[in-house]
Amino acid sequence: MGKEFSSCDRCGKVIDYGNAHVTISRNVEYAELVIATNQKEIQVIDSEVIFTLCAHCGNSFDARTIAAIIISLPPNSSRIIEN
Ligand SMILES: [Zn+2]
Repeated sequence: MGKEFSSCDRCGKVIDYGNAHVTISRNVEYAELVIATNQKEIQVIDSEVIFTLCAHCGNSFDARTIAAIIISLPPNSSRIIEN
């Protein structure tokens, strides 16, 4: 493919269409059980990519470690960015 899709927010490498990459996203979702089909359906109300990593950088992180870091942040973490 060869056309630039994005770049890695950690190392700056260009990510072309067709290249594997890792994103951390913030999704606001609404879940419901559809009685007619007895299936769960999830509707994404809002989605925002927080950052994008090339496959090398993204795969060097353990997802559980990232989750532990996010859980350890205070609910209003805007002060962390200010300081
Ligand atoms: Zn990278």
